[in-house]
Amino acid sequence: MKVMVSACLLGDNVRYDGNNNYNQELIDFLKDYEVIKICPETLGGLKTPRVPAEIHEDKVINYDGTDVTKEFMDGALKTLEIALENDIKVAILKRNSPSCGANYIYDGTFTHTVTNGDGITTKLLKENGIVILNEDNYKEYFKKRGIKNNEKAKIKELCDLKYKNKGLVLPLGWTMDGNIYYKNFRRISGLFIAGSTGTGKSVFIDDLIVSLMYKNKEDDVKFIMLDPKRMELGEYDGIKYLLSGKSHSNLKKGYDMLIFLLKVLESRINTLNKGNYFSIESYNQENEEKWPHIFLFVDEGSKIIKMKDAYLVFNKILDYGSRIGIHLIYATNAYLKNYSTSGFIDKFKYRMTFDLASIEQAEFMNIEKSSWLKGNGEALIKGRSGDVYKIQAPLVTDEEIQEIVSSNKNSE
Ligand code: SF4
Repeated sequence: MKVMVSACLLGDNVRYDGNNNYNQELIDFLKDYEVIKICPETLGGLKTPRVPAEIHEDKVINYDGTDVTKEFMDGALKTLEIALENDIKVAILKRNSPSCGANYIYDGTFTHTVTNGDGITTKLLKENGIVILNEDNYKEYFKKRGIKNNEKAKIKELCDLKYKNKGLVLPLGWTMDGNIYYKNFRRISGLFIAGSTGTGKSVFIDDLIVSLMYKNKEDDVKFIMLDPKRMELGEYDGIKYLLSGKSHSNLKKGYDMLIFLLKVLESRINTLNKGNYFSIESYNQENEEKWPHIFLFVDEGSKIIKMKDAYLVFNKILDYGSRIGIHLIYATNAYLKNYSTSGFIDKFKYRMTFDLASIEQAEFMNIEKSSWLKGNGEALIKGRSGDVYKIQAPLVTDEEIQEIVSSNKNSE
């Protein structure tokens, strides 16, 4: 992971008075990260030493009254360019500075009085979705994300960190303020996931599958996987969690699985109604033979939905899924116009998108243009309440998938 850091905090003599703000603790903390060092004021062409400046009514004014707003803006733009080139998501910048300060800056009176506001560079980086920390709060942020200095402990660590014993509460990623975003799939009948190839959609589906495997035994959770693209889900073939032992890229086999699932679904509804059970939980509490939660993963949905009866099965899951313990994870990279006109998407109370490739996609998420996405697992999620969150999905590596798959294979 790359972290952008103010050069003066690392000991460079770039401060206005020719000194630095060397911070040994921060330097020690950063030893396992790739550090991208910047000083926006020198990038903007200002010399060191220089006359101190502060922000006053949207302008940056030197102590001698010279307007240096242009130099500060140039430095901010160059810093943003470096951040985008390096795919920076987090920066640790010097507090209170008219360039680097976040939330608090000097008030323009040159009396060391601090007021609310962001430095010129910080403001621009924040507008572009970069989290800005300072030398006082960075530890809290990294602790909250649960990743310490270890890039490898990702999805498993998030699964262990919180709600460890709640098998259907899954970590979907981090919100932009660094909190981990968990969702209880016990209450989710269907999750619609839109995204072009390469935006992180398939890795996110791996996140869900691997999290479910980390948190649940194969008797409690079962999978059906339909993968007409023949690319993504085949690596799970043979795991104990799969109801038919393998994923299905063949449309005919996929159709048979949908019809099988329809029968399970109708039988569960009848049983709950006849026995006056409210939900799968109340049924499982009172019966020795427990029903597993069944997750139907569909990657790529636009091919499947055209099949006879597929629409019926999906709609029934969306209507009854959370009550009977059947959940639809429906991913597509072809955002079909008729999704929105048919009312199909409206039935998904949870929707995600990894890009905003079309106007329809943006409209369906009801997202302002400013909420653009950078790819690499950045996504917008809209929940039951209608609120939209921007999240960064966790990374799950091929090695991690291979490890969990090989330890959960059916013996031949
Ligand atoms: Fe430090 Fe930022 Fe000021 Fe440069 S612009 S001296 S990095 S606080």
